[in-house]
Amino acid sequence: MMLTDSHAHLEMPEFKKDLEAVIQRAKESGVEYVFTVGTEKKDWKRALEIAESHPSIYAILGVHPHNAKEIDYQTYPMLKELCRNEKVKAYGEIGLDFFRNFSPRDLQLTRFREQIGLAKELGLPVVIHDREAHHETLEILKSEGAKDCGGIIHCFSGDYGMAKACMDMGFYISIPGSITFKNAESLREVVKRIPLDSLLVETDAPFLTPEPFRGKRNEPGYVRYTAQRMAEVKNISLEKVAEVTTQNAMRVYRLD
Ligand SMILES: [Zn+2]
Ligand SMILES: [Zn+2]
Repeated sequence: MMLTDSHAHLEMPEFKKDLEAVIQRAKESGVEYVFTVGTEKKDWKRALEIAESHPSIYAILGVHPHNAKEIDYQTYPMLKELCRNEKVKAYGEIGLDFFRNFSPRDLQLTRFREQIGLAKELGLPVVIHDREAHHETLEILKSEGAKDCGGIIHCFSGDYGMAKACMDMGFYISIPGSITFKNAESLREVVKRIPLDSLLVETDAPFLTPEPFRGKRNEPGYVRYTAQRMAEVKNISLEKVAEVTTQNAMRVYRLD
């Protein structure tokens, strides 16, 4: 069985002490590929370093909506340079977070638009973060022509209509550990309706730990529990979920 964690944050300080053990446990759980996302300037080089020293780990770089206010004249030139590295497989995560609002909303909207443009220029798919901003996210993806670069809606939390609109633009829908939570019946209903060919699984480690480890630090090996729950929801085998979601990841991240 070969699983893929389409979205984790291995460069975050939570993994500083035991990263190699975490990676080893992922392999033992059947997780072959991990995509680690550097969300702000201080993390980009570390994310790349991890990807460069592990053959089946890849990097995704960009500025998270939380950090939109930190973007200055040096940011995009620096990202352009770093994204030339062949281990960088996507641009992100970018988007809108109207739940925490760590950066002003107006600025989030502007930086989101700019970064879709940058991803298109770099020829990379985009990884989208959308928290309590479904309408605006969809609006911007459409108006900025994100169809041209394609990508992933990570930690998907919208309804089926949102998923459908994103799939119509060629986007993949990535499902996090919250699918295992007791109160996630509506997410499970949406997952049931999304074709397996458009689905990915992710941990967003160290966050969003699935059951039965909820409350502890998340790590890529736990993507297995998310895939298992997806298999139950879709009434297919875990092996099938692993196989197809890995193929989907290879396709969207262009790893043939
Ligand atoms: Zn996110
Ligand atoms: Zn993330």
